[in-house]
Amino acid sequence: MTRASGHPDPWADDVVEVRYVQPYDAVKAYVCPGCNRDIPPRTHHVVAVPHGAPDLRRHWHKGCWEGRRRRRPVG
Ligand SMILES: [Zn+2]
Repeated sequence: MTRASGHPDPWADDVVEVRYVQPYDAVKAYVCPGCNRDIPPRTHHVVAVPHGAPDLRRHWHKGCWEGRRRRRPVG
């Protein structure tokens, strides 16, 4: 496994831990970075935690997470 410094994709599979959040565990609303829309409470979704930067964890819609390579934020 090679990893260049300044990894181009902070959400690459090898640098993040992915946790699936069950509806009964989702008690707050979040904003999905994939589509910038709300993830309402009681929604099955994904939490992505970068191994090197756990403070940067983000909540994603499941579909947005799985499709993130097709529509990535500019930059
Ligand atoms: Zn989304």
